[in-house]
Amino acid sequence: MKTASTSHDATQTQNRPHLELVGDDIQVPLVQGGQRRYINLDFAASTPALVEVAAKLDEFLPYYSSVHRGAGIKSQISTSAYEGARETLRAFFGALPTDTIVITRNTTDSMNLLASCLPVGAKVVAFTSEHHTTLLPWQRSKGSVHYLTMPKSASQAVEQLSDYLRGQPDTTLVAVTGASNVTGEIWPIAELATVAHQYGARIVVDAAQMAPHLAIDMTALDVDYLAASGHKLYAPYGAGVLLGRADWLDSAEAYLRGGGAVDFVTPTEVLWSRGASRHEAGSPNVIGAVAMAAACETLAAYGMDELAEEEIALADYARRRLADVPGIELYRLWEPEAARIGVVPFNLAAYDHSHLAAILSAEFGIGVRHGCFCAHPLILELLNVSDEQATSLREEIKTGNRPRLPGAVRMSIGVSTTRDDLDYLVNSLTKIANEGP
Ligand code: PLP
Repeated sequence: MKTASTSHDATQTQNRPHLELVGDDIQVPLVQGGQRRYINLDFAASTPALVEVAAKLDEFLPYYSSVHRGAGIKSQISTSAYEGARETLRAFFGALPTDTIVITRNTTDSMNLLASCLPVGAKVVAFTSEHHTTLLPWQRSKGSVHYLTMPKSASQAVEQLSDYLRGQPDTTLVAVTGASNVTGEIWPIAELATVAHQYGARIVVDAAQMAPHLAIDMTALDVDYLAASGHKLYAPYGAGVLLGRADWLDSAEAYLRGGGAVDFVTPTEVLWSRGASRHEAGSPNVIGAVAMAAACETLAAYGMDELAEEEIALADYARRRLADVPGIELYRLWEPEAARIGVVPFNLAAYDHSHLAAILSAEFGIGVRHGCFCAHPLILELLNVSDEQATSLREEIKTGNRPRLPGAVRMSIGVSTTRDDLDYLVNSLTKIANEGP
């Protein structure tokens, strides 16, 4: 963390690298006149690139070329960079040497890919608190999906899964988030994996939010599949990853049909490749893969455990200070002492969430997100929206109207966030609350 106060003393941190982001000093105009440094508190949506990532791309751009297709030196360099990126991702996420690593567009693409690879008749189970990416792809798979109600704690999540699997031991896959993009809660992945395996199911972890903030070792956690996005991991350019066991991926139909995914083609028969290339038809996103790998290398060199410790301390500080803003309501699904990454949803009395986010941007130069965060069931639960209200919203939408959905404002931190940034947010919210709409 660049300048944040942390539990580490200076002697412990002075020889460690700093993490800096491109564009961290961007000035933005304020509606009342003047300008100020942009305060980005929207890391959970997309992260700026690390300077090391930008440097790697500067170095690589002159060389990028076709991957797996050309004999020229640039193609050789690109192929080797692309395959090297895969191995960096394997190391960063602690995947097994036998795991397949498919470069995708993002976490959503990774989950949809896995859904398309499920065996016929597969039974999937997921909690209703999931991001739509981990909630919805299974509805299109060749099997069925069952949803568990939202647990009120980490231990309840484990109990609920255990109870369900005891009654449904033919379940194929458990789909779960590593850390919530709405409340920041950190899910007990190792325990959930143990329970899944006890009943013969596999587990896939949505690591979109976990990957940038917590160390992940798929082998130690005993996780079968993991999905993540480069753009949430301090790399730009639209690449993501699905890592995991090879058998389903090798026996499923190719995700996309086209060049690069085949070993041999006649007009009557296609011999599809095995391994990652089976699902990577078309020219791959080599720049995206190289950027994502460079980000992982930089984060690993910094130390994910140290980063997590620093960010969790900062997130606790943010929650404590935000709680003092007059009229604020902070939301959480689990008990206050649950472990959380730095994602905090809130509303301010008398302010609509979209209006509040707009004021923070226009008058204070603070970037946050507002809305439902692609997790409608969870946000309705957090906001205590009644079944009747939800039904009337649904009915109105079905008639073609676009009613205003209930929602919240979400602030989320990242490697460049400081206590000063959080104090500025708290002071700005306090001013807004005191002035009133
Ligand atoms: N899962 C979680 C927990 C997320 O926070 C997000 C994005 O916000 C996604 C999945 C989807 O990520 P992407 O849009 O990169 O596919």
